[in-house]
Amino acid sequence: MLETTIAGSLPKPAWLAEPKMLWAPWAAEGEALEQAKRDATLLAIKEQEDAGIDIVTDGEMARQHFVHGFLVNLDGIDFSQRVKMGIRDNRYVAEVPTVTSALKRKGSVHKMEATLARSHTRRRLKFTLPGPMTIVDTIADRFYGDRVKMAMRFADLLNEEARELDAIGVDVIQFDEPAFNVYTREVGDWGVAALERAAQGLKAKTCVHICYGYGIKANIEWKASLGGEWRQYEAIFPALARSKIGQVSLECIHSKVPVSLLGLLKGKDILLGAIDVATDRVETADEVAAVLKSALPYVAPENLQPCTNCGMAPLDRTIAYAKLEALATGARKLKAELGG
Ligand code: ZN
Repeated sequence: MLETTIAGSLPKPAWLAEPKMLWAPWAAEGEALEQAKRDATLLAIKEQEDAGIDIVTDGEMARQHFVHGFLVNLDGIDFSQRVKMGIRDNRYVAEVPTVTSALKRKGSVHKMEATLARSHTRRRLKFTLPGPMTIVDTIADRFYGDRVKMAMRFADLLNEEARELDAIGVDVIQFDEPAFNVYTREVGDWGVAALERAAQGLKAKTCVHICYGYGIKANIEWKASLGGEWRQYEAIFPALARSKIGQVSLECIHSKVPVSLLGLLKGKDILLGAIDVATDRVETADEVAAVLKSALPYVAPENLQPCTNCGMAPLDRTIAYAKLEALATGARKLKAELGG
């Protein structure tokens, strides 16, 4: 019960990429960069293990961004045609590349870091990929002319990649879908169908991560506009509950999400965010335990996984790992209390 994990990303060392920023430029190039990615992946695993995380990730050390890390390895996308576009329903503007011809994978996208991570940890390994809806919300289109059609094509490519990760021995494959919290009606119309298409035929457990975004200014302002109770999850949980996806990763601590909404996800494993990634203050173990405890009326401890609210890529490294220790210590405290 209460097996700890993280949403996915961790801060990169300064010798790999510029610290404390999203889309950080790489600090090396060529073979030196590839070696730095490998070294950073091993460090990320070691530090998660030492912090007491049960289900570890590669820390997303080998990719620059959670969406574009996948896109750079596809044919059909022109990265020189960069367009400034409002994304997440115009919450903020991002400079995105353009789809200009039929999409296909150039080859394996994440084989290197997945194989490396698998061969260097005996813990269970989770691997993250962007979800189809979030991808189509983070790219311009001059070829498909239809958001759903393009999402289904991305779902096929994600599925090819996920099957390879499955064969490498990854235990959990997670799709990151922050866009689900924005386009709540489309989630039921086609978002979950695209997600299931990306996740079909896998031995690994499948997970979807749905948060309110990294702790950047645009997201903090958006959250402030959402009122006293955030009920976006309420609109999408019924479709997720009916889906074949086994786990749902959610934002909880310091959010205004009513924890009772978890009752809508019966039968799923819940990865509950008990660490805030938008603040440098390190949570106490008691705070973590209290958040987890608040979910127990709705989720059995066997189905509850203490997790972070979102990825930690933009955080300070020392602070991020202190937060992971707080997560593990808080989970242990509650476990002891429950007699586990
Ligand atoms: Zn997130």
